[in-house]
Amino acid sequence: MKKLELHWQILIGMLLGILFGFGMTQIDWGASFVSDWIKPIGTIFIKLLKLIAIPLILASLIKGISDLKDISKFKNIGLRTIVIYIFTTIIAITIGLVLVNIANPGDGVSEETINKLTSTYANDSGVISKINEATKQKDAGPLQFLEDMVPDNAMKAMGSNSLMLQVIFFAIFLGISMLLIGEEKSKPLKDFFDSLNEVVLKMVDIIMLSAPYAVFALLASVVVSSSDPDLLLALLKYVGVVVLGLFLMVVFYCIVVGVYVKKNPFWFLKEISPAQLLAFSTSSSAATLPVTMERVEEHIGVDKEVSSFVLPVGATINMDGTSLYQGVAAVFIAQALSFDLSLADQLTIVLTALLASIGSAAVPGAGMVMLVIVLESVGFPADKFAVGLALIFAVDRPLDMCRTVINVTGDATVSMVVAKSVGKLGKPDVKEWDDHLDEVK
Ligand code: ASP
Repeated sequence: MKKLELHWQILIGMLLGILFGFGMTQIDWGASFVSDWIKPIGTIFIKLLKLIAIPLILASLIKGISDLKDISKFKNIGLRTIVIYIFTTIIAITIGLVLVNIANPGDGVSEETINKLTSTYANDSGVISKINEATKQKDAGPLQFLEDMVPDNAMKAMGSNSLMLQVIFFAIFLGISMLLIGEEKSKPLKDFFDSLNEVVLKMVDIIMLSAPYAVFALLASVVVSSSDPDLLLALLKYVGVVVLGLFLMVVFYCIVVGVYVKKNPFWFLKEISPAQLLAFSTSSSAATLPVTMERVEEHIGVDKEVSSFVLPVGATINMDGTSLYQGVAAVFIAQALSFDLSLADQLTIVLTALLASIGSAAVPGAGMVMLVIVLESVGFPADKFAVGLALIFAVDRPLDMCRTVINVTGDATVSMVVAKSVGKLGKPDVKEWDDHLDEVK
């Protein structure tokens, strides 16, 4: 019998997880059962993916750069990547702002709902911690992000998943220096990283064998810990605007893939779907990164020279879904709390949401932290931050899951565009986890 394709297996795991989660909410001990016995399976899976993220970035970026025949090519790829990332993010924010201004979801929120949400969440530790985190980020100087990108200790940078940009900096520096010492001298190091890269990609294949079970666990635990469904209903219009905006982004990516890359958009979506489903289940583009890299390189045919730079950088700085969400959420909060926004304010939102999405970490809930900074940029009163965030807190997790899918899809699309533009989009070369199993049996 033909084996069910991976994305179907994952999808079935997700659906069963949701059903199981709902079933468990009906039983007294259901929620604690899920959190004690089911959730750890999902947590271990995310840990495994994160475990290989830094070695993968390091190996594939160093391999990618040291494969280049001349450095000017790298400058070319780097510049294109950043410009296209900024462009797609601005499109995303614009779509969000246009939709939220047409639909006005904030106007329909009753005084009663606002009071209910405020009393439930305004003092919630989740909301308070997001505001505190944002205050810390905001106090930084204008060039702080550059300062933060440069590590003073390579081992320390590699010791933390949140320092991904520092690892990228180190890998690029090392890769370029390897090019400069000439092929003969750099060969041993290059062979080492080539081999490490292959090994880590194999680890991705092996970890993915457990993906259908892991997403079952992840979604079951999201369902049992989700908020009151009545609140979700009250925010339905807001959720609808964000989801419609995110859907339009997918349409935009498909048009780009069809028109510029000249590939079938449905083929692209199918090949990238396991990464999208994981993005949805984990809410983290950083955790999804190893899978995104594997899918884009092996299943889509983007050369490592491109993907090894475009994808890790994208996971940290390109967040189309997050920026769209930040635009919609900021205007929604302003509308619901009757805070007027002028056209100039909306343009300020475009700019700050762009910067905020670059600054958002690729982990669950990060987009909401930076939302505080977007709100602040338009003069939203600081004493109302907690109320503002309380309004959208109940639906943040499901929206986080959806926007992470777009963040990952955006990175994959851009990697194809850049690869196409520099003639580095080749044929897929799919490797399975058991390709060499017979040799070692
Ligand atoms: N969870 C998102 C990501 O990892 C970031 C966010 O929007 O909160 O891409």
